[in-house]
Amino acid sequence: MKQAIDITTPETQFGIFAIQEAIRLIKHIQSQMDIGHMTKKDESPVTLCDLAVQALIGYHLRKEFPEDVLVAEESSSILTSSEGAETLKKITKFISPFISDVNSKQVCEWIDYGTASPAKRFWTLDPIDGTKGFLRGDQYAVALALICENEVQLGLLGCPNLTTQGDELRGGEGSIVVAQKGNGAWIRPLNSETSFEQLQVSSHADTAQLRILRSVEASHTNSEKTNLFLKHLGIKSEPIYMDSQAKYVVVAKGAGDLFFYLLPKKNPDYRMKIWDVAPGAIVVEEAGGTVTDLKGGTIDYGAGKTIANNPGLLVTNGQFHAEIVEALNQVSSSRSLS
Ligand code: AMP
Ligand code: MG
Repeated sequence: MKQAIDITTPETQFGIFAIQEAIRLIKHIQSQMDIGHMTKKDESPVTLCDLAVQALIGYHLRKEFPEDVLVAEESSSILTSSEGAETLKKITKFISPFISDVNSKQVCEWIDYGTASPAKRFWTLDPIDGTKGFLRGDQYAVALALICENEVQLGLLGCPNLTTQGDELRGGEGSIVVAQKGNGAWIRPLNSETSFEQLQVSSHADTAQLRILRSVEASHTNSEKTNLFLKHLGIKSEPIYMDSQAKYVVVAKGAGDLFFYLLPKKNPDYRMKIWDVAPGAIVVEEAGGTVTDLKGGTIDYGAGKTIANNPGLLVTNGQFHAEIVEALNQVSSSRSLS
């Protein structure tokens, strides 16, 4: 086990504050918009929350670290249509209790701080990771990481619907997780001032007993091959279906043992974005687990906004990582792991 986390570094303090503020804003919007009754087709509330969070974090980052750039998922360009203008008005209204004297032009500027390209030192943000989970009132995450010289130095995940407790998943007031390079991964209830508890992956090594996490959204992977793979390994336990980078927290706290993203049949060249992977990966690695692509390759964070050099993703507790890579290769009948 590692040394204690130092939450007093300016970057970590900023990250914790940014995640907590973001989730406070999301809950404020939820209280005004009844997002729980929106359907999957209703993209607007999701977009609105995504953009609002990106604006809020963009604003605070620029204030705290004026030199740092933000590489994030959204841009204000979708707010230029007439429908977009309505959304922008709403975002501005929702943000106003959080930042005084805000106007729509500023909101667009803050959102667009996030359109920067990766630099020597940059932050990456997925304002709402796990859109479908968010709409269902299930798992979603606000995901933020600091990358310096192609290495993730700090990762933060705010998971409003994930409990900090052992093997449990839901309940409590949600979790905030912080991982610092070399200092471990740590969790505490989202809005508490209590001290952080260190996360440690499981030591399960018997493949038949492995607890696997799976995406709810089948199009994000190759479900057929996943099923074949589970059969091949003789995995008996029921998968835990979950959206978002909350899955990394479940592995980091030892309540699950592995998950992976195979290349979707319809989209075999798909590559994940940097904000989809960096925050969660450092959490699992600092808790003792392993994160690679499907071939066992180290994740290259220097390839731009996309993890262009790494096909798919494999996240495990580190006990059997090489065996899983091998097994995935065996199950995959084609040359590529699709
Ligand atoms: P999950 O939260 O498990 O449903 O997975 C979310 C991840 O799926 C995102 O972080 C993306 O990297 C990935 N993803 C999103 N869209 C696609 C797609 N069309 N094909 C494959 N993966 C995708
Ligand atoms: Mg998103």
